[in-house]
Amino acid sequence: MSLLFCWQTRGMSFTAINPATEEFVAEFEAHSDADVEHALAHAHSAFEAWRGTPISERAHLMIRAAELLESEIPVVAELLTSEMGKTFTAAKGEVAKCAFTMRYYAEHAEAMLRDEDVATSGSRSGIRYDPIGAVLAVMPWNYPLWQFIRVAAPTVMAGNVMVLKHASNVPGCAKFIEDLFTRSGFPKGVVTTLFVSHDQVPRIIADPRIAAVTLTGSDRAGRSVAEAAGQHLKKSVLELGGSDPFIVASSADMDATIPLAVTARLQNNGQSCIASKRFIVVRERAEEFIDRFVSAMAAVPTGDPMDPATVLGPVVSRSQLDELTSQVADAIAKGAVARTGGAPLERRGYYFPATVLTGVPTDSRAGSEELFGPVAVVEVVDDLDAAIAFANATPWGLGGAIHATDQKEVDAAIAGLDVGMVFANSVVASMPELPFGGTKDSGFGRELGEFGVREFTNVKSYYVA
Ligand code: NAP
Repeated sequence: MSLLFCWQTRGMSFTAINPATEEFVAEFEAHSDADVEHALAHAHSAFEAWRGTPISERAHLMIRAAELLESEIPVVAELLTSEMGKTFTAAKGEVAKCAFTMRYYAEHAEAMLRDEDVATSGSRSGIRYDPIGAVLAVMPWNYPLWQFIRVAAPTVMAGNVMVLKHASNVPGCAKFIEDLFTRSGFPKGVVTTLFVSHDQVPRIIADPRIAAVTLTGSDRAGRSVAEAAGQHLKKSVLELGGSDPFIVASSADMDATIPLAVTARLQNNGQSCIASKRFIVVRERAEEFIDRFVSAMAAVPTGDPMDPATVLGPVVSRSQLDELTSQVADAIAKGAVARTGGAPLERRGYYFPATVLTGVPTDSRAGSEELFGPVAVVEVVDDLDAAIAFANATPWGLGGAIHATDQKEVDAAIAGLDVGMVFANSVVASMPELPFGGTKDSGFGRELGEFGVREFTNVKSYYVA
């Protein structure tokens, strides 16, 4: 069975092109304003029923959706790979993680949302977490299933409904998501996919039937959506970009650090918000790290994302390939050295090789912009204090990693990095148990964990005299 299909187009369309082959995959017709009106009416009436549905029933349906997803992993993974180019292996992992997360919230949301007694002068007082309504989710293409599920599983379990505006280049994934919830038995309107343009988004946010908006994507999109939310006094959560540091400290175990550095940079073909993008190494370990990191990056199997041996597939689009090429060329023109890689591969598909740049000036594009592809910037600094200061000297603050065996060095980074998430001796990751989100231009609000479940609730205090 294949989930790849094509609808007839009328007016604007949403088209997927396979980044590995540059071939057409699927096309979906845009929704008109009348379609949107219809969908919002459904979402609103679904919320009125869903908010009163016992949480045990919500959990039952969430588990059904997880089971369905698990039973279809290879088919769904092929859809992800064909639309945005991640390796089939990574895509299968993404689908399995979604199912795991749905099960996690089916099991844990009730305890996280339980009423809490708070001692006051009253006879009875406390807090309850009430759902707020329909939440608009504006989502990116890089983890087409996970980005939505990580916000939807907790938010739907809390009694809200979701309206999804997905990235326009992954329309098959967008349609699959709505169908998954419908096929699992969720009432119509609990999860709705809309194929809408940027222009329609502010009007959807303004609609009184939309309670809040969450966006995962670039800071440019975040500013636009947050502006519309602010105008209409709607709650917003922004999960934006980053240029995460990967600090190699004096006490790093280099045998363990090198493979983690490669994975941290190349995961998802280099297109992850929490990929490590700046490798900051203390001088005494610099030569060893750079030599071994360059060799490991140069040896990475690159090619067809459907091949199980492939570690690095294509970037998502021709425009993303051109952007990366221009960022790297600008750095080289300003004095940086490409120790491996440095220019697109001459072959069909949007392939950029694993690249390591040293001597990158901070005023070059690669030294000051997010690199959304397989390009690592290595910076050498005197000591750990200088590494933390360099790591913090950016507009972003999403994640950060420290590689050290000395726990004092680990603790210094955990305390000193101005980011939302610090991982030691590990690749920065999202997981259902821990809150996910950033500081500064990486956005605000949290997904996942107890904070994520409560993010779209009315934290209602009550007091009985
Ligand atoms: P993007 O261009 O900002 O797109 C993300 C979503 O926003 C898409 O659905 C896009 O729709 C929509 N959008 C863009 N501009 C908009 C506007 N003016 N009004 C309304 N909607 C708008 O980002 P991307 O290139 O897909 O993703 C890469 C960026 O996302 C990187 O910066 C990455 O770091 C960040 N990211 C962050 C996280 C996180 O959790 N913090 C996770 C993943 C990615 P169209 O597709 O129709 O343009």
